[in-house]
Order: sequence, then C-alpha cells, then structure tokens
Amino acid sequence: MASPLIALEGVWREFASGEQTVAALRDVSLAIGAGEMVAIVGASGSGKSTLMNLLGCLDRPSRGDYRFSGRPVRELDHEELARLRREHFGFIFQRYQLLPDLTARANVEVPALYAGMLAPQRRLRAEALLDQIGLAARGRHRPGQLSGGQQQRVSIARALMNGGEVILADEPTGALDSKSGEEVMDILRALHRAGHTIILVTHDMKVAGHADRIIELADGRIVADRQITARAPDNAPPRIATVAFTGARRTRWSPRAQRERLEEALRMALRVMAVHPLRAFLTMLGIMIGIASVVLMVGVGEGARHKVLAGVSQLGTHTIELWAGGGWGDPDAERKRGLEVGDAEALAREHYLAGASPVIQTSVQARHGAIAATASVTGVNERYPDILGLRLAAGTWFDADALAHRAQDVVIDPAARRTLFPHSDPIGQIIMLGGVPARVVGVVAPSASLNRWPGGQNVSIFAPHTMVSDRLTGKTRLDSIIVRVANHAPPAAAEHAMMRLLALRRGNSEVFVQNADGVRKTLEATSSTMTLLITSIAVIALIVGGIGVMNIMLVSVTERTREIGVRMAIGARRGDILRQFLVEAVLVCLVGGLTGIALAWATGAVLPWLAPTIKVIHSPNAIAATFVFACLTGILFGYLPARNAARLDPVAALSSE
Ligand code: ADP
Ligand code: MG
Repeated sequence: MASPLIALEGVWREFASGEQTVAALRDVSLAIGAGEMVAIVGASGSGKSTLMNLLGCLDRPSRGDYRFSGRPVRELDHEELARLRREHFGFIFQRYQLLPDLTARANVEVPALYAGMLAPQRRLRAEALLDQIGLAARGRHRPGQLSGGQQQRVSIARALMNGGEVILADEPTGALDSKSGEEVMDILRALHRAGHTIILVTHDMKVAGHADRIIELADGRIVADRQITARAPDNAPPRIATVAFTGARRTRWSPRAQRERLEEALRMALRVMAVHPLRAFLTMLGIMIGIASVVLMVGVGEGARHKVLAGVSQLGTHTIELWAGGGWGDPDAERKRGLEVGDAEALAREHYLAGASPVIQTSVQARHGAIAATASVTGVNERYPDILGLRLAAGTWFDADALAHRAQDVVIDPAARRTLFPHSDPIGQIIMLGGVPARVVGVVAPSASLNRWPGGQNVSIFAPHTMVSDRLTGKTRLDSIIVRVANHAPPAAAEHAMMRLLALRRGNSEVFVQNADGVRKTLEATSSTMTLLITSIAVIALIVGGIGVMNIMLVSVTERTREIGVRMAIGARRGDILRQFLVEAVLVCLVGGLTGIALAWATGAVLPWLAPTIKVIHSPNAIAATFVFACLTGILFGYLPARNAARLDPVAALSSE
C-alpha cells in the first residue's frame, strides 16, 4: 500500500506550564489518506487544535514522528515548513482571520502572492474562486462589511488559492448561524468530492456527520476512530468542483514576482500609515526635525561660506592682510611682538604698495536714541576705502586730519544704517559707542568685501584707529595691517618685500599674511570642522529619530501579532514578514526625511526675509546624503522589530488577542 498522505506515529506534544509540562497530545498515531474527509471531535481541551496545528505544520511534535507524503516533518526547517503550508495546506479558522485592511479579493490573493504568482493571474484566480463560492459581487468589500458566513466563505476561497490540497478547518461553523454553517459545510463537501482532503475539528456531532470518518480525542489521546458507512446520500450541488485545483501550486520566483512582492509590502505599509496617520506622523517627527535641521544648518553654513568667498574674490589678490605671530591659532601670539602703527606707516612708504592701513578691531554696544545693537568697530586710517575698494553711499570718509586729531567721526555700514537709523538720515547724527559719543560722517555702499570674515555680517562701524585705540580699546597694538599692492607690482613679490621689511624693523618676530588664497584655505578648514559638527549632530538626530521608529515598530508588531500568525499560516516565510516590517520602517523614515527636506527648503526660503544677513544655499549632495541616511536609519532601527515579528511562533501568534 502506498504511504498515506498524513501519518502520525507515537506523537506527543507537551507544553511547559510553569514548573510542569502539560501533554496536550499523548502518543497519537494516525493515518489519513489523500481525499478523505475526517472530523476530529472531543471535549474542549482534549487537544483538537493542537493536533490541527501539528497536521498543518504550524507546530512540531515534542516526540514522535509526523510524515507528510512520506517526508519526515521533523527534519524540515522554518523555510521548508512555510513552503509545505503554502503549497499543500489551506487553513480555515473559527474566526475567519481575514486581514481587516484588505478587500475580500485581496485577502484571497495573499497566499498566491507568497507563492510568486503574478498579479494578473492572481486577480483572475481570486475572482474565479469568489465567483464559485457565490461572492463575485463582494470582491471589493472589506471583511467588516461582510457577514460571518460570507467572511468564512472568503476564507475558504483563500484556502483554495494555492490549491488547498489539504483543507484544515478548526471549528469552521463554530461562529456561524445554522444556515451559514450549512452553506460552509456544503462547500467543504463539494471540495471533498472534487478530491480535496478535508480535516475538520468540531464539537457538533451534526457537523461531524458530514465526514466519512470521525476521530474522537479525549485528554490528548485518540479514543475512537470510526468510518461512517451509512450516510444520507449527498444531494448538494457540486458547486465548487470546477475550481478544484488538485495538486499543489508550486512556488515559482520570477524577478517580476519579486518586484510585485515588494510592491505589495509597500502597499501594506502605506495602508498601515493611512490607518494610523497620527501615529505615523509622530513617528516621523523625530526623523523630520533631525533632517530638516541638518539640511538647514548645512545650507546656512554654505551660504555664509559663499558670502565670505564672494568678499574675498572681490578683494582679489592685490589686497593682503598681515598679522603678527606664526599663523592662526599660534599659542604664543600674545607674547610675540604685535604690529604697531609705525609698521603700517613704514609699509605705506613702500613704492610697490598703493596704500596701507592699521586695523584695530573691537566690539561695542552702539546706541542711537532708543535703538541699541552690538557693533564691530574697526579702527583704520583714511586710506582704507581705497585699499578695500569701498564706495560711499552718503557723506565722506574721515580724512588724515581727523586721524591726527583722534576725531570721534565714524562711517557706518548698510547694516548699521538699517539697524540704528531705520527712518532718519544718519549723516551728522551722534551715536554712542559704549560710553563714547561719535558723529556719523559717512555710510559705505553695500559691498561683498565688507564680509571678508565669517561673522563679519553684523553691524559694522569704521572709525579712525587713533580714536579707537585712545577711547575704546586703550591698546596701541594693532590687530593687523591691511595693504593694497600697487597695480604694477606682482603680489607675491610684494608679499616677500613686506616680510623682509617687517623682519628688519621687528627683529626676528614673526608675521604672517592672509591673502585671498589664505582666506579660502582657512574657510575650508573651518568648514570641514563645521561639517564634522553637523555630521555628528545629524547622526545624533537620526539615532533619536530611529529610536522613535523602533519603538513604534515594536508596538506595531505587538498589535499585529495575530495578523503575522495568519500570514504565516497561509504561507508567508520569515523573510516575507521581515520584509514587510522593514519596508514599513524605511517608508516612515523616507517620508519623514522628505518632509524634513521640504521643511528645510521652506525655512530656507523664509529665513532671508526674517534675517536679511542670512543666506541659505542648499547643496544637493548634503540633501542626497541625509536622504540615504534616513533610509539607513529605517533599515537599522526597523530591523530588530521586524526580526522579532519574523521569529514569532505561528501558533502563539495566531492565538494572541
Ligand atoms: P481543544 O482545541 O481540543 O479545545 P487544545 O488543543 O487547544 O484543545 O488544548 C489542549 C490542551 O493543551 C489544553 O489543556 C490546553 O490548555 C493545552 N495547551 C494548548 N496550547 C498550549 C500552550 N501554547 N501552552 C500551554 N498549554 C497549552
Ligand atoms: Mg480548540
């Protein structure tokens, strides 16, 4: 005799319950042939469901041997068990277990999705099955819009989607009224006639009467196993016969099927987001804010850099600034001999220079009437506008006479004018620099070279250096000397000559120069520090956002445990479940990331209105990088919850509330 389809040999199933173990099945041996219709009956707690789960490869025996079509199930791994379920079994549950967010047709299609059937075929077949069970018109309804009997019929169609060679029905009529119950039993009988093997669990002897064989369980043991010989003749119309797909549908993978599976996961993820929009939004918020702030920060940094660079280019190579010390950040700079006014005067006499000005920098509270602002005051001489190529918008620059008399005359920049004199003409007005009164004699025209230094974008005031050192700083030492090389002289040679002259005047104490190239290099160095800073902030922001995503994904997995169980029962592999939740996490991060970028753009567009000195330049690279980071965050932080979901035990998942 050929080996039976299902053969159990001395099977035990024990559950750990506290200290003890409870045996739900004890030494069960059983053979069921292909095409049989078997009812399993017994009191509640007798082990019927446990037996069904074992037969359906949702669970494995603790001891004993189960062979399906001669194959020992014990030796199969998770992947192969999922495949057996998908290709050979069709589950029907007491509570239907349809996926509530999917339409009836989509529910029927799910098993074929896991088996790699392509969308058009899947759709046709699902429609044919719904038609056969008399629900052709209900394909677009959701389970909530169907009666219990209709839902159970949809679940039968789902069980048949991949062939349903063996139908396992656990109390299929338990939740139905008697008429719907009859209909369901009619369909099961028709399937039986069409060659399907039907195994059903029931406590209702009338339902059991439809079967050819009744197996009775008590306390986990088989206590009776009898063939029913005399039964009423079967008059029910064989309505399902034409869709009977005997033989299992084998799983086949084409690249297109793979893509469809991913699309389906994406669609599911979108549906989940649509069902819980607030939750999705809150989850995204962290990612959104993180990405928005990083993109904006990069944009503002980039804008500032451009501004300074524009100023430097404006200056050209003929304007050079000299500083005392060995270079930026020289720790000994303070102890070294500083530059003095005499040095600037000596330089001014050199024929290769068109002009030289001392520079003393300080910062004061500038006030005009009720308006006050922090201003940077630059003490320079009368040559300064020529050296920097500044033009005056109003008034005049202070002259040599003013310098000699330490005149309290100042020239203000456009920002100072906007801030301190919003409605009046500044020329001739008195402003207070700290406690020192000064008369405004001129206003410079806007110029990129005013922004020579990062941060040189706020309110600026120019004053005679003699007055600044006398009244404001009290120091004679200069911060720097700025010179303009004569047009005919090559800047490099001029730089050389200046260094030689200063070395002669000052002994060996060092001087370094800052020219356009130098500024560019300094800027590059500071911007790489900025980049590092921004990157670390980005990483922190995304970790915080990612933790939020992980948190909500864990909640989502817990909430959908039963759905995961159902999907596993109808043939999902662990990989399918993993993919579904990963796609969801990545989607949340992606949408959050895109919204964040949009937010940064919007803020970047509005910001210059609020703060005119700020310029925002978005770099496509930075945006692309944050985008990629958002995806990675989704994968990284979605992985743990997704893996938890994929590793759920199908039986436990199915029975969760
Ligand atoms: P039936 O379906 O016939 O009502 P079950 O197969 O569900 O019975 O359960 C049989 C016995 O096994 C019961 O005593 C039940 O408490 C126990 N049992 C079933 N599943 C588990 C489990 N996961 N953990 C512990 N005990 C279980
Ligand atoms: Mg049960």
